[in-house]
Amino acid sequence: MPTWFAKKASAASAPKDRSGVRVGIPKVLNVWNTHQFWVGFLKGLGIEPENIVFSSDTSEEQGREFGKGRGTVDCCYPVKCMSGHYGELIFGIKKKIHILMSPMIYSLPSFQRGHVTDTLTCTRVMAGPETIKAGFLKERDVFGENGIKYVSPFVSLGDRETVVDQLHESLKDVFDLDYEETVKAVQAGYHALDSFNQKARQQSREILEWCAREGKPCIFVLARPYHMDTGIGHEIEAELQAYGYPIVWMQYFPTDEDVMDWLFGQDIRAGRIKTPFDISDVWTSSYSSNTNEIMWGAKAAARCPWTTCVIRLSSYECGMDQPTYTPTQKIVEATGTLFFKFGDLDSTKPSGSIRIRIETIVHYMSKYSQDIIQKK
Ligand code: SF4
Repeated sequence: MPTWFAKKASAASAPKDRSGVRVGIPKVLNVWNTHQFWVGFLKGLGIEPENIVFSSDTSEEQGREFGKGRGTVDCCYPVKCMSGHYGELIFGIKKKIHILMSPMIYSLPSFQRGHVTDTLTCTRVMAGPETIKAGFLKERDVFGENGIKYVSPFVSLGDRETVVDQLHESLKDVFDLDYEETVKAVQAGYHALDSFNQKARQQSREILEWCAREGKPCIFVLARPYHMDTGIGHEIEAELQAYGYPIVWMQYFPTDEDVMDWLFGQDIRAGRIKTPFDISDVWTSSYSSNTNEIMWGAKAAARCPWTTCVIRLSSYECGMDQPTYTPTQKIVEATGTLFFKFGDLDSTKPSGSIRIRIETIVHYMSKYSQDIIQKK
């Protein structure tokens, strides 16, 4: 048994050599907007960056080759395709991993935290790892057979104070973790995540500044973080970008004070909302983080002059998105902003119909964007 699995009686503060440990993380669901936390956390524990392995983007081949027969029925597409990611990490990479870590993320460190009721994940996101794990244990322990330890830490990333306890408790045996080093690794994780988010928002700000300088429009993507996965979102935004329209994802829209005051200052002064991130004027049951952000994104896109078009993406069998379709469309269209929805996305990419819709969007953008910028 490798030494890193063995319990040591040494002093808690002695640095432990984990340089040979390889950790695989399925790149699914809310790992998409928290991956930098996990990288920072594992690096903080002394895991070498090249030994932190994420599965590839979702694809039909991945599901067919690695997830077949292990899937779950009656579920939304983003959860269903998780089996392929697990299987790829177990069977599909040359240099074997020692640990497969699939976090059960209960809440998110959203920029709206404190401005909404809560920032919880969808229950299917949280329970996804448990559901999928079963497919690899039902006949025999596939993890054990392949020399892999499976670990699924339950973690409230939105509640920074509780994360050390949660991760120490769930990972202490697998990584031979001391409490102090967990504290430092969690700090490193949040530092990495916060820096990444800030950098990505700065890049979106630069896009908007370019649009303002050049008088050009851009496209705003209103979707869940995992629609950035090319097999879940089908690269619809990339096809639009090929026509010369810059893309801004809602998750990384700039949240700087000056921008927020410019977009929401009037509503705050009029008493309609308390802060720029408050969505109580359009959405009262603000518990779900990704849903809250979608509602907020619709408001931001509607107010920003250069986001002349909103692309809404949603997956097959997503019960969380259903009630938001009409309100988001109404909010966006209230300022004359173009709104196009791609719903029920699943494994099949209907290239023909997507191409026709892309051409329609490009036509409307080129015809109406200048008018929309002027009016907004
Ligand atoms: S939000 Fe929708 S797509 Fe995402 S896990 Fe929940 S039900 Fe599935």
